[in-house]
Amino acid sequence: MNNNDLFERSKKLVPGGVHSPVRSFKGLPMSPRFIQSAKGAKFTDVEGKNYIDFCMSFGPLILGHTDPIVEKELQAGLTRGWSYGACEHYSLELLEYLVEKIDFVDQIRFVNSGTEAVMTALRLARGITNRSKIIKFNGCYHGHTDSMLIKAGSGLAGEGDASSLGVPEGTAKDTLILELGDREGVINCFKTHKDDIAVVIIEPLPANNGLLEQDTQFLKFLRDISSENNALLIFDEVISGFRMGFKGMAGETGITPDLVTYGKIIGGGLPVGALGGKRELMEKLAPIGGVYQAGTLSANPLAMVGGLATLKQLDEKFYSDLESKTKEIVSIFESYFEKNEKYKELKVISKGSLFWITPVSGITRACDIPGNLMDTFSELFGDFLEKGIYLAPNPYEVGFVSKAHDDSVIAELKLKLGV
Ligand SMILES: *Cc1c(COP(=O)(O)O)cnc(C)c1O
Repeated sequence: MNNNDLFERSKKLVPGGVHSPVRSFKGLPMSPRFIQSAKGAKFTDVEGKNYIDFCMSFGPLILGHTDPIVEKELQAGLTRGWSYGACEHYSLELLEYLVEKIDFVDQIRFVNSGTEAVMTALRLARGITNRSKIIKFNGCYHGHTDSMLIKAGSGLAGEGDASSLGVPEGTAKDTLILELGDREGVINCFKTHKDDIAVVIIEPLPANNGLLEQDTQFLKFLRDISSENNALLIFDEVISGFRMGFKGMAGETGITPDLVTYGKIIGGGLPVGALGGKRELMEKLAPIGGVYQAGTLSANPLAMVGGLATLKQLDEKFYSDLESKTKEIVSIFESYFEKNEKYKELKVISKGSLFWITPVSGITRACDIPGNLMDTFSELFGDFLEKGIYLAPNPYEVGFVSKAHDDSVIAELKLKLGV
């Protein structure tokens, strides 16, 4: 099989040939690689070429591909059936494991994706407060529910415009968009829309549009101003949860959101999302409360055992090892960029096991990221691909390091880059 042929065939049958736009290699001169199989830190395309994978399914695979312990649990799960549509104890085991470790969460509901978790958390927040407006920050990604596909508008005090066709104006009006770090803006929004703001939502470590680490004091400010105004605070930890330590950024900063959303790592590569919070808030969800939410495949038993087998491996030592490996990988990239005139401008910003290759540094707001990053990235991406190193095919996406990026993979990376 040939990548280009498969892409041509796909383009006839699915818009743009892809099932998620970020896979499309848009703006890049080659067609997407079609992956045949994966193992450890690597995957192999249909033409037999191997890559060290630094995209890792955009985050879920913190253990790498086909982790043997997860694989064993999934194999065992297959023999028991893969969907019941009824109560089962596999999700209970995952619940108990999570709630014991994440002290600010009493209850969790499982859904099928990060988008669904956020959509439900927003509805819950609106249902609890009986208010309609949401404060969201420019550059934070919260999945593709209508109210989150909003960009800064020209209106007063943060009123947004749809960033996608098909999002009604009325929906856009209820999402207020501010720049990260803009305390004045948040204060003004709460003044202008007093008693109308249901919720403030933020990625406490914005990692979907570059890596824009926030000042902890800003997060603390959001916590305080939300409480003072009887609005809720959601930490969307779909990327940062279980990656910046088990308890994500809430754990790292000691700041407790009212609701937290998870995805990605929580399913270990199977489709799982979750929202959690204190019992009195969570019990506003159906069937006890009046906020409706449901899912045919929610808490899918295979996904639950895959998630638990993943999360059980994430102890303190796991995170410190992962971080030191990431530092090593980052310095390899940096040496390569220093050696090559054409990449001289590039730096690597990193936190925990995330990294972002970029010509800009020291920025914390999406509006400070240049719009032309593809210019340098395109060459780097092609060069890496050729050498068998796979990055997310977009300069605004971060890279992910997993447990499977071990010493032998790191040695291979050095060899490939000649550093
Ligand atoms: C990936 C992501 C989402 C969306 O999750 P999906 O599973 O892709 O729907 C939402 N929020 C954040 C912070 C994410 O990183």
